[in-house]
Amino acid sequence: MNFVVFDLEWNSAVPGKAGVSENHPDLPFEIIEIGAVKLSAEAKSGATFTANVKPQVYKKLNKYIARVTQRSQESLGQGDPFPLVVSKFIDFCGTDVILASWGLSDPQVLKQNMDFHNLDSSSFNKAINLQVVFAHMAEGGQTSQQRSIEYALEFLNIETDLSFHDALNDACYAGRILNALLLKTGTEEHEKVLRPFLYDPFLQREKTWQIAVAAGGNAEAVISKQEITCPACQRVLTSDEPVISTKKKKRWSWFLNCEKHGRLRCTISRYRREGKDIYHFKLTLPYPPNGY
Ligand SMILES: [Zn+2]
Repeated sequence: MNFVVFDLEWNSAVPGKAGVSENHPDLPFEIIEIGAVKLSAEAKSGATFTANVKPQVYKKLNKYIARVTQRSQESLGQGDPFPLVVSKFIDFCGTDVILASWGLSDPQVLKQNMDFHNLDSSSFNKAINLQVVFAHMAEGGQTSQQRSIEYALEFLNIETDLSFHDALNDACYAGRILNALLLKTGTEEHEKVLRPFLYDPFLQREKTWQIAVAAGGNAEAVISKQEITCPACQRVLTSDEPVISTKKKKRWSWFLNCEKHGRLRCTISRYRREGKDIYHFKLTLPYPPNGY
């Protein structure tokens, strides 16, 4: 098993009128940089990977992205085509790789870009969200806040000698955070420690929908008679738990079970419009998967 901590920088459509016509729905974010660091068995950062990608959809650098990444328009032209960069990245990762990243976005964007170029992304089907690993291992899982890399570095007293928002530097920082967390456990069995956090980054993890019914009905009854299917596998979910009101007559939550994916949480909100009650449903696969 290879652990590769990676980070992406991406470009997107230029906001405003021009951006709308330029915007490509299949590819909301186009990768312009991949940075990665391998983690060795001794929880030390090892070999690194860095490459610039020459965008083919969003060729003009978004101003916001230019500000955050300190990239210039000229530098965009100096990268290699995405398929070439990603094949080098796959070689770097080796077989049986676990991709670790800060947050859920990077694996999703990697998948979108590979799909866009008709490349097989199935070798990247195992991932770990380091933001959540940090929340559990450093902060006891008590906070639902999504901490920044900067916050985690300071919390763990890790030196910040590299500039931020460069893909390789951010990957190195995330790698240092993971190393620090693993060292704290005092065990060499890193795979075992991280196993509860493994997930498939390509599963559809969330869905939202709404229904309109005659106003004034009993919310718990309306909600519990819905047939709800898993966002990842479309199986019909079952529940033997009651619908709980979390904000009186405005919000509810309901736990359901998927035979394959375990317990899912559905949150429901209600508002009235034109004499109808509108129920808005949001269903999410939990992370870590087994409710660590
Ligand atoms: Zn399922």
